[in-house]
Amino acid sequence: SVGSASETGSLGPSSALRWPWPGPRGSDSDHTNVYVQEALQELEYPLRLQKLLLTPQREFHVELVITLDSGEVAAFNAYRVQHDNSRGPFKGGFRYHPNADLSDARSLASLMTWKSAVLNVPFGGAKGGVCCDPSQLSERELERLTRRLVQALKGVMGPLVDIPGPEISAGSRLMSYFFDEMSKYKGFAPACVTGKPLALHGSYGREYATGRGVVLAARELLKAEHAGRLAGKEFVIQGFGNVGSWAARLLHMQGAKVTAVSDSSGGLYNEAGLDVHALITHMKAKPPFGGHMSSFPGGRHIPLEQLPTIPCDVFVPAATANLVTPEMARALECKFVVEGANGPTTPEGDLVLRERGIPILPDILSSGGGVVVSFFEWVQNLQNFRWEEEEVNRRLDRHISDAFAAINRERTQRRITYRKAAYSVALQEVMRAHLNRGFD
Ligand code: GLU
Repeated sequence: SVGSASETGSLGPSSALRWPWPGPRGSDSDHTNVYVQEALQELEYPLRLQKLLLTPQREFHVELVITLDSGEVAAFNAYRVQHDNSRGPFKGGFRYHPNADLSDARSLASLMTWKSAVLNVPFGGAKGGVCCDPSQLSERELERLTRRLVQALKGVMGPLVDIPGPEISAGSRLMSYFFDEMSKYKGFAPACVTGKPLALHGSYGREYATGRGVVLAARELLKAEHAGRLAGKEFVIQGFGNVGSWAARLLHMQGAKVTAVSDSSGGLYNEAGLDVHALITHMKAKPPFGGHMSSFPGGRHIPLEQLPTIPCDVFVPAATANLVTPEMARALECKFVVEGANGPTTPEGDLVLRERGIPILPDILSSGGGVVVSFFEWVQNLQNFRWEEEEVNRRLDRHISDAFAAINRERTQRRITYRKAAYSVALQEVMRAHLNRGFD
């Protein structure tokens, strides 16, 4: 069992064997490890392996110095955490965000390991961040920053080593710069990054893949919970970036009612269902005609705190991490939560929802559509071939439904939550890879 003397091996002092150990590079904000430890407790793996799964393999911190358009020189911190590559090359995006730091990247890198495992794509987990405020940088500055990033990390990245993809404030344009800069060092290697535009070796269906994954996962959840079909169901979506806006659009197309959405500026509510297409068109327009939720005429403007209190079937947190706190979990008036963001629910918030009997579909399943289609893009790049859009979507559906079925089996057999079941399935997958490879 956990902590037995025979498993001390080369772990070091016996205090390190106490359960739970502090973790060599753990931090308070590492919520992924809270969930991993919870699932590990029952799996009784050798301590050595448990420690391996809780610890990133490699971490990099670099400083990117660029010349701004003004002629001034500025330095930005950037990070890359490579968590586990037992199942395949490291995979995960670089987030361009003022709060990007090492501990954030660590938690998110680990999440990618479990996401790829649950969704059965042959990747490991990584994540990075560039600490900057993208709204204050010009397109040219962002390009220079991305090229510097490649120059700093090219030695530890590549199509069979570590493959970045889209993340917050890092869409297809930045992926193009990444590809172009990497090509200077590696030659023609489009598989070195995913989420590229269609015109530059991208894949059909990648742009909306995460949003589509959320919708597919919600469909499976409703079915398993005997709650009927998507059509007619009421959804409230927090966050209107790539994931939230695409999920809203696809739900709307399926006949579900998106009654409320929000972004950082506030919320929008229409009990009859928002006209999502009109809202997206509005958001794309330039001010004063659009560009902001607050000037959209098709709904009532509500303060952010009111969003969770709107009664609905499914609440989709699709903004950033840690927004579903215990307070929000107590306020929620939904029947189900389907996580679209990475790490939107704090462990304490998770507990409140559990106590209230509100099932949560965890991020490592429901926000994994992006990395699944990133895998398809990578495969197409390696083959120098392009699949049709229908094929991409059909295969994505398959990955999400199969993953859901596996998790649901684990959940019902062991009478545990969807999250714990998902982590159990993922841990077992990764564990199998490690055991098959053997470790000294
Ligand atoms: N950023 C996305 C995620 O967190 C996808 C990353 C990728 O495609 O590599 O799942």
